[in-house]
Amino acid sequence: MKAKNKIMKDTLRYKDESCLVEALTVSPCLVPRPAPLVFGHARAAYLGLAIGDALGATTEFMTPGEIKVKHKVHRKIIGGGWLYLKPGMVTDDTEMSLALGKALLLAGQWDLKGIAENFLAWMKSKPIDIGATCRRGISDYRLKGQLEVPYNEWDAGNGAAMRMAPVALFTLGDSLLLKEYAIKQAHLTHNHTLSDAACVVIGGMVQQGILGTDRHKLHETTRELVAEYPSFRFNNYRGNASPYVVDTLQTVFHYLFSTANFEECLIGVVNQGGDADTTGAIAGMIAGAFYGMDAIPARWLKKLNKEVKDEAENQAVKLVKLSPWGSQHA
Ligand code: MN
Ligand code: MN
Repeated sequence: MKAKNKIMKDTLRYKDESCLVEALTVSPCLVPRPAPLVFGHARAAYLGLAIGDALGATTEFMTPGEIKVKHKVHRKIIGGGWLYLKPGMVTDDTEMSLALGKALLLAGQWDLKGIAENFLAWMKSKPIDIGATCRRGISDYRLKGQLEVPYNEWDAGNGAAMRMAPVALFTLGDSLLLKEYAIKQAHLTHNHTLSDAACVVIGGMVQQGILGTDRHKLHETTRELVAEYPSFRFNNYRGNASPYVVDTLQTVFHYLFSTANFEECLIGVVNQGGDADTTGAIAGMIAGAFYGMDAIPARWLKKLNKEVKDEAENQAVKLVKLSPWGSQHA
């Protein structure tokens, strides 16, 4: 009962037309971060995504028990998994993010059609993995040129949320723009309220981490999401790490707030199994944004595929330069 009252209170606080937008205004830091540090945290967010993907691919679709038997604790980028990846290679989570970021950099501005074109080119390249909902959305674009799939109650997977890093960087410093573009890119393949909310919140947390925030503020953002959509509650985490975007975010938040650094957070997430490459990717982008480059273990950076690493860092810097924050600071 007490918990319910608390939810009601939080809901009241944010119940208005622009609740999510209001809730996700990036709080200005007391001491603004110097520009080089902002760029560093932006690079860490993008690299964190790729590292989480590469690390988690090994344990994707395994149970925590199976992981324990095979790896004790899985903590190395060794590839394998059900996709038989080479060590350091990434999957659709990183590849779709890079395709999205590349379209924005080519256009030098927001370009939804460019993103759809790059997704299509990526799909035609026969990627190692592609989610069913993403495939359907991209195929619809190919056939009908449509840039928004219709609302579908089965679209609450994490496939749109996993590619939020470049959107967060491109809109850095403007939470309204973030919300608009987060949802637009999501609707190319996924059209569902919970997916939309997850995209906006992940992007908001990445931006908060990059611009400088503390754990309290980051946690507050998750509480605002829970106030609006109580199914995202993650206290009493029950260990579901499925591709359902609610399970995915519960897993990410549980490990983000119960660990003290980037490495511990990612190890916790990928040893939970399930959709481990995607929980890894999302945890990696938020934890990377928050903890910064110094917190990323050198052994993971070294193992990450060189081309992917260079492209992620290169895109991170260029996207931030294009962002509202970048036009004021860089
Ligand atoms: Mn994947
Ligand atoms: Mn996955």
